[in-house]
Amino acid sequence: MAAIVDAEKARKLSLFRPLGYQRNSCGYCKSEDGSAAYYTSSVSVRPAHYEELVNRGWRRSGTLYYKQNVQRSCCPHYTMRLEASVFKPRKDQRKAINRWNNFILGPEYIRRAAYLCPKSREEKKHRKCNFDLLTSVHEVEYSNVKRPIDPKTKKCLEPAHRFEVNLEGDSISQAKFELFLKYQTKVHKEDVSRWQQKDFKRFLCSGMTRTPADLKSTEKKLGSWHQCYRLDGKLIAVAVLDLMPNGVSSVYIFYDPEYEQWEFGKLSALREIALTIEGNYRHYYMGFYIHTCQKMRYKGTFKPQYILDPESHAWDPLDGELAKKLDERPYVSLSRDRRLAAQDTPHSAVDDVADADAEINDEEVSLFDLHMPGVMTLEEVKALDLDHWLLLVHGSFVHMIDLVGWEKMPIDHPQSVKGIIAELAASLGPNLFHESAVVLFD
Ligand SMILES: [Zn+2]
Repeated sequence: MAAIVDAEKARKLSLFRPLGYQRNSCGYCKSEDGSAAYYTSSVSVRPAHYEELVNRGWRRSGTLYYKQNVQRSCCPHYTMRLEASVFKPRKDQRKAINRWNNFILGPEYIRRAAYLCPKSREEKKHRKCNFDLLTSVHEVEYSNVKRPIDPKTKKCLEPAHRFEVNLEGDSISQAKFELFLKYQTKVHKEDVSRWQQKDFKRFLCSGMTRTPADLKSTEKKLGSWHQCYRLDGKLIAVAVLDLMPNGVSSVYIFYDPEYEQWEFGKLSALREIALTIEGNYRHYYMGFYIHTCQKMRYKGTFKPQYILDPESHAWDPLDGELAKKLDERPYVSLSRDRRLAAQDTPHSAVDDVADADAEINDEEVSLFDLHMPGVMTLEEVKALDLDHWLLLVHGSFVHMIDLVGWEKMPIDHPQSVKGIIAELAASLGPNLFHESAVVLFD
């Protein structure tokens, strides 16, 4: 029998293993089962496909991919993104970079450099009135620091510190693991026993496929990368990044707690915004936004910030109407509000539906009965050609319809194979459906 997928097409597919819908404890309000999400795992997701998922409310943690049911979770996780090209840093953000740059150069260097390579009056005036993000981010990297010969010492004028930042592969190293442990125990007060090297690897060093393989290539970088910060040769911070065709997604940052005073959260975000602009990625994703979580409010200070509408998948400005509504209630979909307003539905009727839904034990019913926001309806999934969705079995592809008994399986039953497959298709969405295959048995 001829293969149903040629090697070329097979290489372009993303593979997903459905894990299903689950309630879990919430890390923000500490409720025991407050957070509900649909899960799938994969060791093979293409960056363009991940971007499609992110823009449908998904995120990944290592090889685990999940989409929260924002309507039925105590602390809804909204997907947010920044339009990088129009970003204007605030005063405190500019200050963080300037402080760090002064620390790297040091007073002695700054004094001598002002004498040895003086700036023109226009240059000084321009710098005083304009803050250029790209210049500020890069100017103290060692390769960009001017090191003129100082006639007094007959040696090159050296900055106080040698600072280097490189985008590297997401491979694991002893230095990265030790830095991570130091960060988790000191900053997040976690017990050292919580993290084994293999857990760290699964969490931050097992991302999407990375291209190009050759670091010197000028091709757009995609996949899972580590931006490594080194001070005087020593690794002091690692920013874990997912690079997608039209977006840079910040996964995690860990740094040496000795440098906490320099606000690495801010510094890394600013550097990643610069990367977004320079690499022509357009959008910068700072991870989920949880309106009720005070610690997250800082994300809103990077503007202009947009929030993904959980139902229409449109992007709404975080400021204004949306922020006001989020102050009043946890779940907001502006498209839903507009739809209800157009139907002139009395508000009490909407509340009744929500109350009835609240009674459902959501782990027992099908995703379709839950009406999870941003998931295709059963009718929409039935319109897809589920019978010919690809299934990877022992290294080769077959069609779903090749499964014994497939035709008789109930599609709306969450425990039947067809039900499991249908829920996965509904969550991934119609575009990815055509570019993916399912892993179920091996
Ligand atoms: Zn919560």
